[in-house]
Amino acid sequence: MSKHVNNPKTAQWQAMSRAHHLAPFSDYKQLAEKGPRIITEAKGVYLWDSEGHKILDGMAGLWCVAVGYGREELVEAAATQMRQLPFYNTFFQTAHPPVLELAQAIAELAPPGMNHLFFTGSGSEGNDTMLRLVRHYWACQGQPNKKIIIARENGYHGSTVAGASLGGMKGMHEQGDLPIPGITHIPQPYWFGEGGDKSPEEFGLWAADQLEAKILELGVENVAAFIAEPIQGAGGVIIPPESYWPRIKEILAKYDILFVADEVICGFGRTGQWFGSDYYGLKPDLMTIAKGLTSGYVPMGGLIVGDKVFDAIEAHGDFNHGFTYSGHPVAAAVGLENLRILKEEGIVERVRAETAPYLQSRLRELAEHPLVGEVRGVGMLGAIELVRDKATRTRYPDEVAAGMVCRGHCFTNGLIMRAVGDTMIIAPPLVISRAEIDELVEKARKCLDLTLRDLSA
Ligand SMILES: *Cc1c(COP(=O)(O)O)cnc(C)c1O
Repeated sequence: MSKHVNNPKTAQWQAMSRAHHLAPFSDYKQLAEKGPRIITEAKGVYLWDSEGHKILDGMAGLWCVAVGYGREELVEAAATQMRQLPFYNTFFQTAHPPVLELAQAIAELAPPGMNHLFFTGSGSEGNDTMLRLVRHYWACQGQPNKKIIIARENGYHGSTVAGASLGGMKGMHEQGDLPIPGITHIPQPYWFGEGGDKSPEEFGLWAADQLEAKILELGVENVAAFIAEPIQGAGGVIIPPESYWPRIKEILAKYDILFVADEVICGFGRTGQWFGSDYYGLKPDLMTIAKGLTSGYVPMGGLIVGDKVFDAIEAHGDFNHGFTYSGHPVAAAVGLENLRILKEEGIVERVRAETAPYLQSRLRELAEHPLVGEVRGVGMLGAIELVRDKATRTRYPDEVAAGMVCRGHCFTNGLIMRAVGDTMIIAPPLVISRAEIDELVEKARKCLDLTLRDLSA
């Protein structure tokens, strides 16, 4: 039941939005016509908007609210730290206990050899840090020409200049003259969308082989690193074919370049392992983190640096880079408490052993739906492909905007599911229960029915 339908404040807030707020990744013309939905509170896996509607948050905020909303321990951790030391910087040979304890806690969870933490305010800044650190590393090794970073089309690595350049999003590159020089992109392992007549396994090998082809084309003496998300998130929850990562690992072992795993989404339990790199057995030299690190309660990101890279940097001395809020004490205290909750409540183990298999099997039931071409997922990540023809994987025409139609029905029916083109995606809080998974799947089914009805009309 709605608490305050037709709240007069909703219209006021929407007017304030139009007058003063530039929202990220928004169509300002559309926003001016409709106004944003105003979210006012949250608890567990549910949100409430200013009209009192209760909404199941199938996206964990923006892939980040791992432990769910309303965790008093995180509130307490922030308040306690704010009273004791609300801010001090970590520049110029200074530190404070929360940042050191968090660095140690992350190193203990990270794969072997990943022992050093550089903190930032976001995932994008983590990738900016990565770009500068990787080039600095090669310069320290006497190979300053090893500068180019190979990334992937339709990857997402953030929205700063370096982040957007590393990402492979066409719509982002079109604005602001990106990518910057020294970054290049290879095809993504997206079989459903781009696999053509190849089997998923053939296509996975082909996509991986593009890395080797690119290294040879550029000359390995010019290539610094390859960056990839273990599973592409914002690109549409793209689960690579089984053949992809093993072949990439072979190629990485053959050439002297660094591997950066962007763990901003996969990190801290989303796949049912602590990191996506654990899930796929990857051996990164660097890992970008953010999102689940603090469950989104306060902003924080960072870069986990492996021993090999760290040793070279340390031997050189100076690294002339940092942010005022690198290792912010309040963010660090919240991050530490968030990791304690994830560990002590066995949340990652429960995802792996129980709730993720349940979510995945329930989601797969939707593959029978006439509108659905494929359902895929790993852990607490899922994607549903909307198609006009299942057998040929044929989409609806762009102007039909099937994904947006479905997203609209989800909003009105109390479910947040995101649309990436005609791919519907979910990434619920890691603490979602079986009963809440049932609710998510039933709501998704209902919205698929409503979408099909609209598209058939
Ligand atoms: C969200 C995201 C980023 C950027 O993080 P911000 O905190 O938004 O800057 C980077 N990489 C991946 C994989 C992401 O999903």
